Amino acid sequence: MNTEQTDIAVIGAGPAGATIAALLADRGWRVTVLERSHFPRFAVGESLLPRCMDALADAGMLHAVEHAGYQIKRGVTFTENDRDTSFTFDDQFTPGWSWTWQVLRADFDHRLALEAEHRGATLRFGQTVESVDFETPGAPRLSVVGDDDTRTALTARFVCDASGFARVLPRLLGLDRTGSAPPRAALFTHVADHIDAPDYQRDRIVIGIHPSQPEVWYWLIGLAGGRASVGVIGPPEWLHGLDGTPVERLQQAIGEEPRLARLLADAEFDSRVGQTENYAYDIAALHGRDYALLGNAAGFVDPIFSSGVTIALESALRAVGPIDAQLRGSDVDWDTEFEAPIRAGQRVFTSFISAWYRGTLKHVFFNPTPDTTIRTMLSSILAGYVWDTSNPYVAVPERRLETLCRLCAPAA
Ligand SMILES: Cc1cc2nc3c(=O)[nH]c(=O)nc-3n(C[C@H](O)[C@H](O)[C@H](O)COP(=O)(O)OP(=O)(O)OC[C@H]3O[C@@H](n4cnc5c(N)ncnc54)[C@H](O)[C@@H]3O)c2cc1C
Repeated sequence: MNTEQTDIAVIGAGPAGATIAALLADRGWRVTVLERSHFPRFAVGESLLPRCMDALADAGMLHAVEHAGYQIKRGVTFTENDRDTSFTFDDQFTPGWSWTWQVLRADFDHRLALEAEHRGATLRFGQTVESVDFETPGAPRLSVVGDDDTRTALTARFVCDASGFARVLPRLLGLDRTGSAPPRAALFTHVADHIDAPDYQRDRIVIGIHPSQPEVWYWLIGLAGGRASVGVIGPPEWLHGLDGTPVERLQQAIGEEPRLARLLADAEFDSRVGQTENYAYDIAALHGRDYALLGNAAGFVDPIFSSGVTIALESALRAVGPIDAQLRGSDVDWDTEFEAPIRAGQRVFTSFISAWYRGTLKHVFFNPTPDTTIRTMLSSILAGYVWDTSNPYVAVPERRLETLCRLCAPAA
């Protein structure tokens, strides 16, 4: 067993882990990132939000990804039964970025991780954190096992859990509240899309709604180089009811949505189809005496509004000040400085996600006579500006949205 010491141990080198590692290294701390896989590795979640661009710029990470040649994203198109409605990010309530990217996450995450290393963090790939002992205050001890079975006891002063869906600390500490959301499942892959339809705008994510299953929806995310990410989400029993191999089930599901079926008629399904189920969970507390939970390790509801990477980057930005201050001996109000803003952002997305699955939000999106100011406010939410409390749909999301959904509902 090797024994090692560091100031901050980061579990996971995804967007949250790489960003917090870079920011803490900037402040002069010894940072050790433990990542169980080897990068580049596949990750789902290609559609970014314009708010990510602010976060990448604030974290000094933008230059690491801006020349990667990713597909530009300028908006969102919702489609149901061959009618479309689009939101573009150039007409927003909140001043901000009018575009972002649709990225190959394997490449995006790898570039961010290399940037963290360049800024001084130590990255260890093929290293899985198995457990963390918090018994000694100020000296958490991580048990780490390498691909080659070597074992390391790493003592840190603070632990950042950025382990994504694995949520290492919530599971070890009993903070995981899985089952708080209705069960949903997903099938997804990358294809060579061969789309040449003149009405397809590659710079928008397309969200399709199943014609007869209101809880089933699809994404089509155009990537660079003629490739695309496609996926379907729905109740597990509906996805399990489709026939055949995962790729056949995904193709069958796509065949049931007229617009996507046409767009993807010539697509080559040349990559492995991924599956995930019951991906939603809530976490009881986002920080403790010697740790903080970042990104997906701090909770995940649903990918419908592409909020995951935005929350991951924001949580890293919000955590760096409190961690730095705590390690320098200052008192930190973690609830105010870290947990409250992260939960506030999650809450806005969650209220929109709930309205989406209730089936009421689509009436707002497809409203034929929309109020233009309200539409700019909704655009800003879709762009990820969920911390701008001058937007009424951020300040009081549930009540405002419920009223709007009621006003836009079709007459009974
Ligand atoms: C179907 C689906 C579609 C999605 N689409 C989008 C989208 O379009 N846009 C978007 O923004 N988000 C999307 N998301 C969410 C997005 O994938 C995540 O929110 C995002 O990846 C979170 O980043 P992270 O840094 O928190 O975690 P991750 O990117 O998951 O990184 C966590 C890292 O921790 C490592 N790790 C795990 N356990 C251990 C361990 N024990 N020891 C060491 N390392 C460990 C993992 O290998 C991984 O590399 C989607 C999610 C799903 C399920």
